[in-house]
Amino acid sequence: MKIDNHNTDELRDISPSYDPWDPIVSLREFGRHVLTSVEMTVTNLCNMRCEHCAVGDSLVLKEPEQIPLSLMLKSLDQVENLRTISITGGEPTFRRQTVDEVIVPLLQYAKSRGIRSQINSNLTLDYERYEKLLPYLDVMHISFNYTSERDFHEVGFARSGHPVNAETAYRMYNKMMENARRLSEAGMFISAESMINYRTHEKLPEIHRLIVEMGCRRHEVHPMYAADFAEGLPVLPLADMRRAIHSLLDDRDPDLWMLFGTLPFFACNGNGEDAELLRRLRKEPNVTVRNDPDGRNRVNVNMFTGDVYVTDFAAIPAFGNVKEAKLDDIFAKWRDDHPLNRKVNCHCDAVGCCGPNLLVADMYYKDIDFKSRTAITL
Ligand code: SF4
Repeated sequence: MKIDNHNTDELRDISPSYDPWDPIVSLREFGRHVLTSVEMTVTNLCNMRCEHCAVGDSLVLKEPEQIPLSLMLKSLDQVENLRTISITGGEPTFRRQTVDEVIVPLLQYAKSRGIRSQINSNLTLDYERYEKLLPYLDVMHISFNYTSERDFHEVGFARSGHPVNAETAYRMYNKMMENARRLSEAGMFISAESMINYRTHEKLPEIHRLIVEMGCRRHEVHPMYAADFAEGLPVLPLADMRRAIHSLLDDRDPDLWMLFGTLPFFACNGNGEDAELLRRLRKEPNVTVRNDPDGRNRVNVNMFTGDVYVTDFAAIPAFGNVKEAKLDDIFAKWRDDHPLNRKVNCHCDAVGCCGPNLLVADMYYKDIDFKSRTAITL
């Protein structure tokens, strides 16, 4: 198998000054968007049913055979400028067999090729299955939107379809926190993501404190995506979202890297409050704002069908399949020809912005043509 990336020893540390998932990095390097990141959905099984789950409608109780791992590895190997992979679900570690036969080999491939890896997990299962990832994984990404075990019970099983015993939920919550602490102590980079929504917007500083206590290395903050289970939940007004971010910036631990992503505030808005917030985010030490990778430098591959999507959770039909075409070619067609990409594919280098996330644009800017705008705020 061809290995044509950098030697692992030369890899730059992931830090506020280097985030290889941010599409602005490759856009500046190549002068146009190129595929540098591949996300793979390795399961649709999960032990939770969160109220806001953006892939909730895909979750199942039993799943079919996957495409051969060799085909997935070959497809990755053909991506000329691959820098990062992400592994997602469901709960990717739900079955031990998936950990041993799919996740570990994918991470080993990434490590041998000198590319960065991330896995998205709820971290509520037994420690041993996460410990196996320690030698290979760069970023363990978890969701954390709670101030107590009661929050976790209420949010985490809202779509179960049957009542889940409080004691069971509390045990899982404590397991997640214990796993996060132990894995952090063992050297794992844990990035805890909180969403800003109608439940969390007044509690973010408290959520942040628990994330610091667990030893996480980064706190990610995104607005809730109105997809799948979250589609019917109340949309938070932009003013409340701005206020929530300011309150978090006021109270945060300045030593912890904070990464904001898919924010609905843009330098082309011409709105004084947005401009003030964007300036503050840019000035604060240890705070970064990531451009959305989905469809910019990343595609999602469903490992049951081989279908290729712009993201694991948007209701945008697949636009290719790894059984039939190379990922670079599938991506180029999306980038150059797809009408949805043409709607949001803007770029203002002075403010380091390469356009809105499709779902966020749809939630807050339905009739705005971003391609006809340009940054006003610097
Ligand atoms: S890149 Fe697009 S969204 Fe960002 S400031 Fe420019 S026009 Fe606005």
